[in-house]
Amino acid sequence: MILPEVQSNYGKLRLYINGEYVDSKTEVWGNVYNPAKDEVIAKVPFSTKDEVKEAIQVAQEVFEKWREVPITTRIQYLFALKNKLEEYSETLARITTQNHGKTVQEARGDMRRTIENVEAAISVAYTLYKGEHLDQVSQEIDETVVREPLGVFGIITPFNFPTMVPFWYIPYAIVLGNTVVVKPSEITPIPMDFITKIFDEIKLPKGVVNVVHGAKDVVDEFLTNKLVQGVTFVGSTRVGKYIYENAGKNGKRAIVQAGAKNFIVVMPDADLNKAIPSIVSSFFGNAGQRCLAAANLITVGNIYDEVKRKFVEASKQLKIGYGLDESVDMGPVVTRDAKKRIIGYIEKGIEEGAKLILDGRDVKVPDYPNGYFLGPTIFDEVTPEMIIAKEEIFGPVATIIQAKSLDEAIDMINRSNYGNASSIFTTIGYYARKFRREVNAGNIGINIGIAAPMAFFPFGGRKDSFFGVLHGQIDSVDFFTDRKVIITRW
Ligand code: NAD
Repeated sequence: MILPEVQSNYGKLRLYINGEYVDSKTEVWGNVYNPAKDEVIAKVPFSTKDEVKEAIQVAQEVFEKWREVPITTRIQYLFALKNKLEEYSETLARITTQNHGKTVQEARGDMRRTIENVEAAISVAYTLYKGEHLDQVSQEIDETVVREPLGVFGIITPFNFPTMVPFWYIPYAIVLGNTVVVKPSEITPIPMDFITKIFDEIKLPKGVVNVVHGAKDVVDEFLTNKLVQGVTFVGSTRVGKYIYENAGKNGKRAIVQAGAKNFIVVMPDADLNKAIPSIVSSFFGNAGQRCLAAANLITVGNIYDEVKRKFVEASKQLKIGYGLDESVDMGPVVTRDAKKRIIGYIEKGIEEGAKLILDGRDVKVPDYPNGYFLGPTIFDEVTPEMIIAKEEIFGPVATIIQAKSLDEAIDMINRSNYGNASSIFTTIGYYARKFRREVNAGNIGINIGIAAPMAFFPFGGRKDSFFGVLHGQIDSVDFFTDRKVIITRW
């Protein structure tokens, strides 16, 4: 069944500042597309500098009042937010599919994790109460640590999870008494635009969450404006490095979650009946546009032929189409440019001498002939030195690499510039333990293809996949608070 679109067109998006919808005065507008149809479904303003400044100024003024609101009351807003997100979950999933291209089942998964982050933030008051106080640290001296919110934070998000990624931070920031200015991806801004209506409906005090649109100029204002205490960023390594450097230069806190090139290792003892479906969805779920998506498949020992055959067979079965069709397994990639870039990598792989054993370039979706579709693509005879094995492609392209031993596989993984996630499929505890201890990545999957931590665990990578100290999700509690020590003598 093909589900209806929530709206066919979302018009000119507005800014959300101090609880009001503001028509941007900018002269620069971008097109927002439905990637399955190649149709413009909204116009996104690239906010002017003054508009961003105003949003930050408002957030600063509101911070002074919001921090005085008891945490028990702030938590009540989060309960209301959770209930409304549940109520609008299916609507938001369909909007996400329409704007991003992922299947509606995938978008529903995003919504669950979005809501889970609100739930985890609700628990913050209960987990923080544990009290950092010591009586009599010296003669008649007591010491107490209190956590205080810091002020205004800029939240910068990527195109691929337009609801979930902002919610790795927003609920934690605001429940702790901070205020935020959010800048969604200019490619997928519609879901966040819809969520502003929810903030209105729950009567979240005006100005606690503000939303501005745009790209680099907005980010640069976040990075230089004296009122901004810190930024969170999720996106590519190139932009992430720029943000981390400039946040540091300007004395701001930063969490920077960046690009990835993830590995899956299959050991000869793996249970392939369970492993193959998990591997296929790890490579091709979200059309490969996940920071935790697998990119390189390493087979160890004599299981290579069987894994290759089964992986290709299962990948061929995937139905490609518009994600609002519930029978579809894989939607389009997000933009025409993304499709072009991914095809460029496929051509590069052929040039490098890898063997293309499944070619997704000429996939046809008759009902949506203009969509940015690509089928699952698999390269064999790949070596770790090839560009297609090293660089982030961020599309439905898999490589297969052979290794003689687990040591060799781990060595290949650890030589990668990235360190977001790696998974192993095995039935032997020794291999699993060795893998989790020796692989240098932030997230390890054991018989799980997508090693995505729940909201109440930290989320971050290593090497070029992450810059900073504190991670996303629950870890951001320490990022959004500062600890003040009070030393008392009576
Ligand atoms: P991107 O880096 O192009 O954009 C991310 C954000 O940065 C957007 O809001 C964009 O407007 C802004 N931006 C773009 N260019 C900028 C510039 N020159 N200066 C300042 N800001 C700029 O990333 P994307 O294409 O939207 O997202 C895909 C990337 O995100 C992939 O690399 C993926 O691995 C990564 N990602 C990482 C994680 C993680 O947890 N590590 C999660 C999701 C996505």
